[in-house]
Amino acid sequence: MAIERTFSIIKPDAVRRNLVGQIIAKFEENGLRPIALKKIHMTRAQAEGFYAVHKERPFFGELVEQMIASPVIVQVLEGENAILKNREIMGATNPANAAEGTIRKLFALSVGENSVHGSDAPETAAQEIKYFFKDEELVG
Ligand code: ADP
Ligand code: MG
Repeated sequence: MAIERTFSIIKPDAVRRNLVGQIIAKFEENGLRPIALKKIHMTRAQAEGFYAVHKERPFFGELVEQMIASPVIVQVLEGENAILKNREIMGATNPANAAEGTIRKLFALSVGENSVHGSDAPETAAQEIKYFFKDEELVG
């Protein structure tokens, strides 16, 4: 299996509730390693650009407001099959459908405030990493 890199956000709802350590522990327990990590407070323009693919969706405005309400942790995770593995560790978008033991099952408040973001494919992972990190910030 290939070593991959994926992009992850610990969203405002989780950072506010002091869940950063518990969430990173889930990634580490499952073989994913943070190779870049920082705390930022996203601007509206950053959040709108990041989620541009969803701009026609009815929840877009609410999503942007939630993402800029308070700081987030952005990180790059590296490991075997990291993109799919991260999605498995996160659980389904709607916590009501998330499997036992997943981050969203454990911590999400709602389908919107669902504690984490993770890239969904190799192309989006590469784009999303580039959106927040310079190459020299990735320390593998
Ligand atoms: P995921 O984060 O699992 O990849 P999507 O890419 O479909 O999910 O959606 C991006 C984000 O938009 C979700 O994580 C969630 O915060 C929000 N979202 C998605 N669907 C809804 C919805 N029906 N109502 C409110 N917010 C939503
Ligand atoms: Mg998505």
